[in-house]
Amino acid sequence: MQPRLNIVIVGGGTAGWMCAAALAHDLKADRPEGLCNVRLIESDEIGTVGVGEATLPHIKDFNDHLGLNEAEFMRRTRATFKLGIEFADWGRKGGSYIHPFGDFGHAINGAEFVQYWSRARDLGETASIEAYSYAVQAARHHRFDFPSEDPASIKSTYAYAYHFDASLYAAFLREFAEARGVRRTQGRVVEARQSPESGDIAALVLQSGEEVAGDLFIDCSGFRALLIGQTLKSEWQDWTPWLPCDRAVAVACDSDAPPTPYTQSIALEEGWRWRIPLQHRVGNGYVFASRFLSEEAATERLLGLLEGRAQGAPRLLRFGAGRRLQSWRGNCIAMGLASGFLEPLESTSIYLIQVAITHLLQLLPKPGHPFRPDTRLTAEYNRRVDLEYDRVRDFLILHYHANAREDGALWRHTREMDVPDSLLEKMEQFRSRGYIHRYREGLFSPASWLAVFMGQDVAPRGHDRLADLLPEAQLIERLSGMRRRIAANVEDMPRHDAFIRGYCASTAPENAA
Ligand SMILES: Cc1cc2nc3c(=O)[nH]c(=O)nc-3n(C[C@H](O)[C@H](O)[C@H](O)COP(=O)(O)OP(=O)(O)OC[C@H]3O[C@@H](n4cnc5c(N)ncnc54)[C@H](O)[C@@H]3O)c2cc1C
Repeated sequence: MQPRLNIVIVGGGTAGWMCAAALAHDLKADRPEGLCNVRLIESDEIGTVGVGEATLPHIKDFNDHLGLNEAEFMRRTRATFKLGIEFADWGRKGGSYIHPFGDFGHAINGAEFVQYWSRARDLGETASIEAYSYAVQAARHHRFDFPSEDPASIKSTYAYAYHFDASLYAAFLREFAEARGVRRTQGRVVEARQSPESGDIAALVLQSGEEVAGDLFIDCSGFRALLIGQTLKSEWQDWTPWLPCDRAVAVACDSDAPPTPYTQSIALEEGWRWRIPLQHRVGNGYVFASRFLSEEAATERLLGLLEGRAQGAPRLLRFGAGRRLQSWRGNCIAMGLASGFLEPLESTSIYLIQVAITHLLQLLPKPGHPFRPDTRLTAEYNRRVDLEYDRVRDFLILHYHANAREDGALWRHTREMDVPDSLLEKMEQFRSRGYIHRYREGLFSPASWLAVFMGQDVAPRGHDRLADLLPEAQLIERLSGMRRRIAANVEDMPRHDAFIRGYCASTAPENAA
């Protein structure tokens, strides 16, 4: 038998159980030939953050990789489908655009679609860029179907994610992980013992007095950042000058409306409101900047906007945008809220947990006595995770910065502030000729940037010469053909609510919280 790595996870929120499930599955924790033993410690007394209901399409890959049955997962977590996010009143009041999980049109003769769209606009064509996105049209018509696997089909040009109850998802993964050898301990960690030589964590002391030793410690303790922050003092990089929202008030409510296949993000005076439809309720929250709006005023505003009876009392969450300078330090790796926080504007937190797990699995250190991870692995992990956070940060800042709203100090501040050079360059590239650099690592795709640029009136001033090669009549005909094809196919799709009823209806009692 080969030596096994003893991995201890602190925290049983979404991060802790996603990590436990993936490690147990991939490293075969329940088999004699497995590479690790996994133990997870969580405290019922402390509990979890209890929000986080909207996801990105990558979550499907995560679930598929574990072999979860999609319909069962959706029933158990009371999930709905998500084709993108509608941003209402962002950019300017009265405006609405959808950031879809899918493409806009397709490249022609080596030039990107936006180049043709831009030329057609200069020729007087008035159709919005949204008319060329299958995902946007399906979302706007409240339709859903699985994408086609045939790359020639227009129905292959989108992906989907889910809205789900995050606590039920953690419970589902817990069941999965425990069945695959993860040992769970309920108890509060009161001390982390460090090795006097290396400074690494040697063992955790629980309130019961029990000591839990390990090789590798994964800090999923949420905003407390028990190990990475409190014990190892990995510095926090503060991004609140760019992303000043630092509070959210959240409450679920009843709804009679059929669930929309998209998340809604509606800009308000000093922040924005989310609306996330599940099968049995709608999740609502108001994310705001406390320097511009009081907690009481935000709570009152949110309650006044609910479409149905509130399910329970509103919950207030305090946070700050930023990330750890080192998410992996010594023998401790932080994931989830312990590693960084970016407001849920683009539903990226669960994605960031997922990529952290993937990078850890790829860079998993070998066991040894005494155990000491290779610092080159640690540096590579931190490089990858930093890049992911930094890219999401720039994308979020764009939403705030490119605004023409006149109501509220938040909008004035974010419009006038200096933004990171990496974002400035991206905006300039797009403004000049509609160029969007395609990343090899990390979020977001050019189609995502395109959606937000156009949605928030950051428009290209010119187009590629290549797009001039297509004769004008052909250009207009091709574009209208694309629009017609999308509209006709969308009309044939099932309604989202009917699709859910047939595929994964939850048997949860009405209005169950
Ligand atoms: C307002 C808001 C809205 C959000 N919306 C979204 C969204 O729509 N989509 C998305 O992807 N993400 C969203 N997120 C982020 C998402 O909620 C988190 O990324 C996700 O829940 C992971 O949290 P976590 O597991 O890191 O921490 P938590 O859920 O806080 O879990 C921490 C765990 O650590 C344990 N713990 C802490 N201290 C100790 C101790 N001393 N001893 C033992 N155990 C301990 C706790 O018991 C708990 O089990 C949102 C976050 C906020 C704040």
